[in-house]
Amino acid sequence: MADIQINNLVKVYPGSTERANDDVSMTIADGQFMVLLGPSGCGKTTLLRQIAGLELPTSGSIAIGGRDVTYMPVHQRNLSMVFQSYAVFPHRRVRHNIAFPLKTKKLPQAEIDKKVAWAADLLQLTPYLDRFPAQLSGGQRQRVAVARAIVVDADVLLMDEPLSNLDALLRLSFRSELKRIVEQLGTTTVYVTHDQSEALSLGDQVAVMRSGKVSQLAPPLDIYDHPSDTFVGGFIGSPPMNFLDGQATETGIDIGGHTVAAPAGLPRGKVRVGIRAEAIDVAPHGTPGTVPAQVLVVEPLGASTLLSVAIGEHQLKVQADPDISVKTGDTVSLRLAEKAIRLFDHETRLAWQ
Ligand code: ATP
Repeated sequence: MADIQINNLVKVYPGSTERANDDVSMTIADGQFMVLLGPSGCGKTTLLRQIAGLELPTSGSIAIGGRDVTYMPVHQRNLSMVFQSYAVFPHRRVRHNIAFPLKTKKLPQAEIDKKVAWAADLLQLTPYLDRFPAQLSGGQRQRVAVARAIVVDADVLLMDEPLSNLDALLRLSFRSELKRIVEQLGTTTVYVTHDQSEALSLGDQVAVMRSGKVSQLAPPLDIYDHPSDTFVGGFIGSPPMNFLDGQATETGIDIGGHTVAAPAGLPRGKVRVGIRAEAIDVAPHGTPGTVPAQVLVVEPLGASTLLSVAIGEHQLKVQADPDISVKTGDTVSLRLAEKAIRLFDHETRLAWQ
């Protein structure tokens, strides 16, 4: 068992008055892939470094596999790490780079050879074992760093933006590879990224962080479909969730002169309405129940066409059919999928339950 239990973790760096982590609590189950996601400076790396033992908390505790590790030195925690810089030894061949953590553990050479061969095979590095890092591509070098991390039987794998130095195409292919490898290993993994698509694709659970706190912790699709507040809805998804001001009345919610059904118990008054681009479609003119909007920008993306439209003073994105024929300045009739409408408190921006 190597679950991770984080309780009320607070981190204030020396000389700072800000809480880099502000009362963070979470449970990461044995074998789970947890992604820490959020904008720059929200405290993801600080949290990861405390799990690693590279930073000590100001208060709170961390347990791995039931052992309190809060103040335990790094080398006693039995974890592996991969960071965004490739961090491979330039003067050692790939084989010796991968073998390094096993050598320090003084394992018998035959066992080292077997494990290196296994990790190289898993990461498709076998043909490169005798090369030096300078003779590899960026993606191959990063695979060496991952191979070196998985070659030891660690309880926990920690990764901090491991794909961020790769170009967009390599990033995508290595992302799926990483997912396959981690699923195969079944090691409890904590993964830091500010890339929401990476978080959605990799995580069993995603913790969205903001200003040192966890805004929402849930499986990726729950976060996508039911963001806990407008910050999460606006951070997750490409494009992010659209938000409009609505007015809850006795007959429903008025959005730009069009009324959608309101859930029972919704208080009257201003409400923030959230809807994803793919939950809006362009209907034939005059279709009852549609909202008129003006087309501002048309972006053909191949699989769909992204429209930027205006409803009154609100701008929103609509994911339309790829073959739609509209141009800037046209008026279109939008149909909002009412089931996909999410409501948020106008003041607190928290999801309305
Ligand atoms: P990024 O995505 O940019 O790496 P992050 O979410 O990982 O950001 P952290 O690196 O954890 O954020 O930083 C959280 C906060 O703590 C920031 O305000 C940052 O400036 C501050 N911070 C980080 N490291 C230190 C340090 N060594 N000393 C003082 N403040 C720090």
